[in-house]
Amino acid sequence: MALNVIMMGPPGAGKGTQAGRFARERGLLKISTGDILREGIKARLPVAMRAKELMDRGELVDDATMIAIVRERLMRPDARRGFVLDGFPRTVPQAEAVDTIVAECNNGPLIIVDMRVPDHELVRRLASRLICARCGTNAEPSTEGPSTPAVCAKCGGELVQRADDNEDVVRERLKVYERATKPLVDFYRERPTFRIVNGAQSKERVAHELDTVIDDAAAAGAGARASAAVSSQKAARA
Ligand code: AMP
Repeated sequence: MALNVIMMGPPGAGKGTQAGRFARERGLLKISTGDILREGIKARLPVAMRAKELMDRGELVDDATMIAIVRERLMRPDARRGFVLDGFPRTVPQAEAVDTIVAECNNGPLIIVDMRVPDHELVRRLASRLICARCGTNAEPSTEGPSTPAVCAKCGGELVQRADDNEDVVRERLKVYERATKPLVDFYRERPTFRIVNGAQSKERVAHELDTVIDDAAAAGAGARASAAVSSQKAARA
């Protein structure tokens, strides 16, 4: 059965890293709306160029644009096995759209993982984060002292700071997260497939915790669907 995962959490929580790893290991499609927009800017696509100004200020791009981008991507055949979303949904209307899209795309369970990391740790991580100017991958922090690797380990591209990772914009992005995206926790909290993960641990520990909670939530989701199906069959017979 298909498996769909939403990685929720503030900027810098590690959503992109974990979404990429999980999707690779399970053969799922990973969609990062931030990456799609940044690629669009590199290619000078009009829709992405309009979004750029908002992104540079740390504000959100409008729901209609974002929903159209994600819908188009998830309606392609490679999403039928399931997907991992990084950076989407960020608002309640976007979350409502995901439910509709899942029903049309593969009807698999939707697991929501909320990655929690304290604000001071997020600011620290984002201020020192580097990405590859060529392929967009997050650079691995060097394990040998404070020096960071000079080039991307994957493609040899130049490592740069993201335009929106400077401290002022980071603070704005965290405010926007509190205001627009945190309400999503209330939207999802009651679902049997909602889980919280402590993102303030080593990458390996986070990965282990994520794998465990996603498998557990997938089983809970399947159970909830089975009992809903039995009740509706009973109701139809009555
Ligand atoms: P990210 O790489 O996920 O941190 O996204 C970078 C920026 O892209 C955000 O600060 C927003 O300006 C924009 N963005 C990405 N995803 C969304 C979304 N789902 N809704 C609105 N804006 C988004």
